[in-house]
Amino acid sequence: MSEERSLNFIEEIIEEDIRSGKHGGRVHTRFPPEPNGYLHIGHAKSICLNFGLAKKYNGLTNLRFDDTNPEKEETEYVDSIKEDVRWLGFEWANELYASDYFEQLYEFALKLIKKGRAYVDDSTAEEIASQKGTPTEPGTPSPYRDRSVEENLRLFAEMREGKYTDGEKVLRARIDLASPNMHMRDPLMYRIRHAEHHRTGNTWCIYPMYDFAHGQSDSIERITHSVCTLEFIPHRALYDWFIEELEIFPSRQYEFARLNMTYTLMSKRRLLQLVNEGFVNGWDDPRMPTISALRRRGYTAASIRDFCERIGVAKRENVIDVSLLEFCVREDLNKTAWRRMAVLDPVKLVITNYPEGQHELLEGENNPEEEGGGGSRQIPFSKELWIERDDFMENPTKKYFRLGPGLMVRLKHAYIIKCEDFVKDESGNITEIRCTYVPESKSGSDTSGIHVKGTIHWVSVPHAAKAEVRLYDRLFLSEEPAAEGRDFREHINPESLQVLPDVYMEADLARAEQGRGYQFIRKGYFTLDKDSKPGALVFNRTVTLKDTWAKAAKKG
Ligand code: ATP
Ligand code: MG
Repeated sequence: MSEERSLNFIEEIIEEDIRSGKHGGRVHTRFPPEPNGYLHIGHAKSICLNFGLAKKYNGLTNLRFDDTNPEKEETEYVDSIKEDVRWLGFEWANELYASDYFEQLYEFALKLIKKGRAYVDDSTAEEIASQKGTPTEPGTPSPYRDRSVEENLRLFAEMREGKYTDGEKVLRARIDLASPNMHMRDPLMYRIRHAEHHRTGNTWCIYPMYDFAHGQSDSIERITHSVCTLEFIPHRALYDWFIEELEIFPSRQYEFARLNMTYTLMSKRRLLQLVNEGFVNGWDDPRMPTISALRRRGYTAASIRDFCERIGVAKRENVIDVSLLEFCVREDLNKTAWRRMAVLDPVKLVITNYPEGQHELLEGENNPEEEGGGGSRQIPFSKELWIERDDFMENPTKKYFRLGPGLMVRLKHAYIIKCEDFVKDESGNITEIRCTYVPESKSGSDTSGIHVKGTIHWVSVPHAAKAEVRLYDRLFLSEEPAAEGRDFREHINPESLQVLPDVYMEADLARAEQGRGYQFIRKGYFTLDKDSKPGALVFNRTVTLKDTWAKAAKKG
């Protein structure tokens, strides 16, 4: 968006920091995904924010994989995340991995043990939970809380060496068991996991917890503004405590409201469930809210950036209507998509007075919204055409301005025709519509003097390319499928995918490229799907031309 907008609260903080000369006016952000799934539209918001801030203030952004959980992380996810960030239009200053800091983090832990600020606890997870207390009652100390520094150093080294089994011991920070902030009641720093890590293999069998990895990673990278979502507010005290106790670079954490959107889910864990349980065909199924799915469906990076800009950066949780995202892609595709004709539900039309065997090439602009029409293409016209079945009515109602016995319409980019007759099969289906055309009514040089109200699209039968077209609807019937107490699987829309096997379209679409948007006039925006092969074209509908859901909601 080009309009001026006021600063968001993080920009205000940054501008104040620049004014006061904090960190020498330097701005360094990071985007820290855990590589345990594909990025979704919520991550796009975080990406646009982090990279956008750095861009605006001449700073840098690191891409840091927060890979401290050995079991759930995979290289496939790392690759997809990089592809998605680049596709969104951003380039990172450094590609980094929290796992590269394991040795450094271990040293940090030793420092805290030596200061008497960390201890090895043999309690079970249940025992630790029961000692935690409640927000109004203080916790009780573990019997291992007062171990000597020497004993702690020995036990922690043994934990690293693999002497203990998973869960047998943990390393905890020694802070304050009476703190009103439960995260400060001796939080875990390390746990034992005998598991192979996607990068460090079997080098480690102890892994740092999020709270003992994230802030330190920020600090190691000298991140100035560490932006995360609101659920990390209670972690901030701990973030600051570790940095202070370790006397390392003072990165600061700032929290904004995560993106929630209607009719979809925004959690990798649940999206993985949709994939694993077969509700969708993979992470990039065009009904998914992942970046890769949106890209495959025909969303443009510009439209997603525009969406993120429009929703802004809030300090309070809210739910954004998915129709805003659809609005953004319509806006962008209207400016960039090439116009083409495609008949989704075809019925044959014959022009009885057009010479047999003749055909001509008509001219059509690629995009009337672009200067000079974005160039033009030639559209073959002939005696036999495909038109949409619902552009004909046997007994037209009064305000029906398309085809019916005796009615006239204009064929887009071509001639005015009049319906003379039609043919039905035994079961009553219309199989052919018979028309005459007015030769002087050709678009661009019309001297017929005839005015018609309706214009319909068409495709020449002998020239048409045939394709499968996939129409998508919302994956969920409920606005908030994952709201408290709900099993989102019970709210799946059974009609979220409709496949049209026999669509006829302008022949040059046989050479369509992935990543280009097309407007099938009167029908919506479409793009070539990755399943497409020469001779077996497949198109996805990105979005309808108008918001059909808003209309349905108004009707009730
Ligand atoms: P999920 O629950 O989907 O797995 P996550 O927060 O665990 O999300 P991470 O990979 O840890 O996923 O997130 C990387 C960054 O993206 C974090 O800084 C996180 O705050 C941010 N992020 C994740 N989801 C959203 C969202 N819905 N809106 C805005 N930012 C988000
Ligand atoms: Mg996470």
